[in-house]
Amino acid sequence: MSTEASAAILTTRNPATGEVVGEHPITDEAAVHETVARARQAASWWAGQDPRQRRSALLRWKRELVNGSMELAAVVRAETGKPTGGALFEIMLAVEHLDWAARRAARVLRRRKVSSGVLAMNHLGLLEYVPLGVVGVIGPWNYPVYTPLGSISYALAAGNAVVFKPSEYTPGVARWLAEAWSRACPEPVLQVVIGDGATGAALTRSEVDKIAFTGSAATARKVMAACAERLTPLVIEGGGKDALIVAADADIEAAAGAAVFGALGNAGQTCAGVERVYAVTEVYDRFLDAVKEKTAAIRSGADDAAAYGPMTMPGQVEVVRRHVTEALADGAVAAVGGPDSIRPPFVDPIVLTGVPEESAAMREETFGPVLVVNKVRDVDEAVQRANESRYGLAAAIFTRDKQHGLALARRLRTGATSVNSVLGFAAIPALPFGGVGDSGFGRIHGADGLREFSRAKAVTWQRHRAALDIMRFDPAPRAVATALKLFRLRHGRGR
Ligand code: NDP
Repeated sequence: MSTEASAAILTTRNPATGEVVGEHPITDEAAVHETVARARQAASWWAGQDPRQRRSALLRWKRELVNGSMELAAVVRAETGKPTGGALFEIMLAVEHLDWAARRAARVLRRRKVSSGVLAMNHLGLLEYVPLGVVGVIGPWNYPVYTPLGSISYALAAGNAVVFKPSEYTPGVARWLAEAWSRACPEPVLQVVIGDGATGAALTRSEVDKIAFTGSAATARKVMAACAERLTPLVIEGGGKDALIVAADADIEAAAGAAVFGALGNAGQTCAGVERVYAVTEVYDRFLDAVKEKTAAIRSGADDAAAYGPMTMPGQVEVVRRHVTEALADGAVAAVGGPDSIRPPFVDPIVLTGVPEESAAMREETFGPVLVVNKVRDVDEAVQRANESRYGLAAAIFTRDKQHGLALARRLRTGATSVNSVLGFAAIPALPFGGVGDSGFGRIHGADGLREFSRAKAVTWQRHRAALDIMRFDPAPRAVATALKLFRLRHGRGR
């Protein structure tokens, strides 16, 4: 979608047709600060609620999303251009996570006893996870429900208020989510601020207690620099350049189907989509033939029957064009499509082979429906090449040997790896999600995601005086001697 910001109004357009789909008042810097101040009050109300009340409110919000899913999918479709099926799928995934976070938060974060150890046997050790306060969530446009809800659901479930700044391409989706919240809960525990990067920058400068940023590595660097000013903690969900490895014993049909879906789904605008395939020599030709066959049936378009829609952000089309033309100039071969496949705002499937590792199409995030299939000697070479990326979000491996697959998964420098599927981890709420290197740090989803939006707090309760009372300025010499003896016995010998 293209956007126009004038007279403090953000006008959004359908990226496939150019028609205006919404006009949204822009939140200026002062209003961002006011929103955060309102959120602070709501945060203290929300944190003070019984965990069961928080769960009920979150589940009411969930039902709003489920019962309004067709309406929400229409807003997603209008703002991103993706087919209705894709929009509904993203809502379903987001709801699974919301449900998991709502139901598990109390158990994951509750106060628990820890072992007191030898030195502090007279103390009771307690660990609990308390809310941070106000979390600022900055989201992208490619999955405007699923991606921000990966932070929002877990932050809310952990007892925080959220101020959400969506991408300038998808403000309507964000407002729909916030309006649904206000029907589920009377307090402004979830609020939205609207605008472009300037509104996001204002949020990073505000008095939030944490920023959860999802977007490109370039913007992540700016966000991190801004957060450094106030030492605001930060979780970054960055981009990816994910690899799929095809071993000699792989189910080739399944691997090709997954590669095509992982690369072309959502017009390739998926952070953990497949951008690079490394197939071993023995199966390379068979795999490429299967990819060609499956790609032939894939069509982009504005209609709902198309497999995928337009490029949502006009500027991304030029990134795709540069990667494809540079790769061909660098000696790559187009196995499917080529520069002519780029007919803005649509890009038809492109499959490139023999792309040199130094080419932009191998190093930078393409974020379009382009799949590179390169031949490698063996899986060791595949792992090495996969790991030679600045990014490290996710990866996939196809092999029939479970132990081998799991061992390879461990060697990949990524936050997540699927064996015999792509994106398998995205649908399992209990699994954490996040990257390495330029793909970011910190984790959303799962118990780690709940803890990401909490502060670990240690509390001790002295039950009685210590038998060996040495934590004082005038300890008894006998107590010190005994402590020293015990210390040597305990740590000075054995393994
Ligand atoms: P951008 O980095 O361009 O923007 C992300 C968000 O940051 C947008 O809301 C943007 O606002 C905002 N923003 C821009 N400038 C600033 C600033 N100076 N301070 C604070 N916020 C700012 O990413 P895209 O929206 O283009 O999203 C695509 C990227 O997101 C890809 O790299 C993709 O891989 C990644 N991504 C990662 C995911 C993950 O979970 N790891 C999931 C989905 C996407 P505006 O759009 O209004 O300019």
